[in-house]
Amino acid sequence: MPIYEYICKDCQKHFEILTTSPGNLGIVKCPECASLDVKKAVSATHFQMGSGRPSIPSGALSGCSSRSGFS
Ligand SMILES: [Zn+2]
Repeated sequence: MPIYEYICKDCQKHFEILTTSPGNLGIVKCPECASLDVKKAVSATHFQMGSGRPSIPSGALSGCSSRSGFS
């Protein structure tokens, strides 16, 4: 089940929205001050997934994709 993290721009409250479908994310409201002026934060899961990739040389990535016949 995906967890989306948000930060309220009004009170800087950091909160999480747990949802079963992305369609529920149409309106996100701050639980602290009920403001709709919130911004999406990078979740911990996404951060960990991305951290492993930069260690791969860019040359290896492009070589791999061309060899696999991506185009
Ligand atoms: Zn707030």
